Amino acid sequence: MNGDIRDQDKKSAVNRLFTIIADGTAKVNTGGVEKMEKTDNILRLDIDNIEQITREELGNDTSVLLYRFIRLLGLKGILGESFSSFSYHGGKQLGVRLPIRSIREMIEFIEKLKLGRMEVVEFDDEKMVVNLYESATCAGLLPIGRPICYFESGIIAGITENIFKKKMSVKETKCWGLGDKYCQFHATGSLHKLESDKNYLNEPHFLSKFIEEAGVDYSEENIQLLSTLTAHTMVALENTRLYEQAKKSMIIDAMTNVYNFGYFQSRIKEEFDRSERHNIPLSVMLIDVDYFKKYNDSHGHPEGDALLTELVKVVKASIRNIDILCRYGGDEFSVIMPQLEESKIHPIADRIVKKIDNHLFVRGNDKRKVSVSIGISNYPKNSLNAVELIKNADVALYKAKNKGRNCFVVYS
Ligand code: GH3
Ligand code: MG
Repeated sequence: MNGDIRDQDKKSAVNRLFTIIADGTAKVNTGGVEKMEKTDNILRLDIDNIEQITREELGNDTSVLLYRFIRLLGLKGILGESFSSFSYHGGKQLGVRLPIRSIREMIEFIEKLKLGRMEVVEFDDEKMVVNLYESATCAGLLPIGRPICYFESGIIAGITENIFKKKMSVKETKCWGLGDKYCQFHATGSLHKLESDKNYLNEPHFLSKFIEEAGVDYSEENIQLLSTLTAHTMVALENTRLYEQAKKSMIIDAMTNVYNFGYFQSRIKEEFDRSERHNIPLSVMLIDVDYFKKYNDSHGHPEGDALLTELVKVVKASIRNIDILCRYGGDEFSVIMPQLEESKIHPIADRIVKKIDNHLFVRGNDKRKVSVSIGISNYPKNSLNAVELIKNADVALYKAKNKGRNCFVVYS
């Protein structure tokens, strides 16, 4: 092996590896790793390349709105609920690869990209707390009840793994999405130190180590090794995807494809705590199908199942994106509605009742109709904790049934 490595060679090798990882040139399939194609004529998607910008009339700056459009709406559209986890892991993969070896370099990098203005407010052997002001992702955003800068959390995790030389996890504790006026990230290290021999893919300096040890030549052997590393990365990504999928299946009701009761129970507590902390209202709606037993008796259980699935779609179309629709059990559904005052929930409940009442459930030549009853509770108007919210929505639902069904009642 040639031990004399010129900078240019080093850079090319790093870029080559980035290209392979970014493009997924080496594919994992049943046969293992496919042989790589010659990359000489292939444009590389790496940091140097993306810095090449030729926009004579429009210039180099693009709007923060465009960034958010792609980063928040675009990615969410593709990845759905896995969006947050993928953003975090994507940011982390990127952060680990960046040649940043100090906190100062990290702050400069974040500012250079105009991702925000970063300030370190706490820093010791085990943890680091940073504030991010004017975050490109969230500054100015109205609260949505959860933090949103997952990508930034991931980048900080990746970079700090390099700096602290240990596994780091980063949690965003303040965010405009939560109603704060800046973001705060807590980066904490686990006690488990990285073992470079066992876990070299994650080891911060594995690239330079590899290059030094391998002496940078494009021998078959090295290309094979790079391909193997890439294959490991692909498998790691695939594992993350499968893990997310499995996690999702544990919280989703298989028949109606909305969140299940278990998820409702944990989420209502979480949402209540957030509402109480930030002094914002929270409403809960319980929706129950009227005379559903009769529907089952007349048309059979499978038809009843189909009705519930269609009904969910009608309800979904009437609520906001941030509302959390769950199957409470049987023919009953719950909706957690953050930041919604009691008065604002009336038109929504009225809309749902009327929409269902007017909806024709078409099955073959049959056009069927059902109605729903709705019970509503609200923090702080009539319920002071998560248990009360559920209990009072249930009492209101009972009243709606007693009133004759096909209507909504607010707990009082
Ligand atoms: P009410 O107006 O008082 O709500 O009358 P109801 O007949 O709807 O009574 P209730 O809500 O107590 O009964 C719910 C029925 O829903 C009982 C059960 O047979 C049926 N059910 C529960 N889960 C399912 C399901 O997954 N599929 C189908 N097809 N039916 C279900
Ligand atoms: Mg019912």
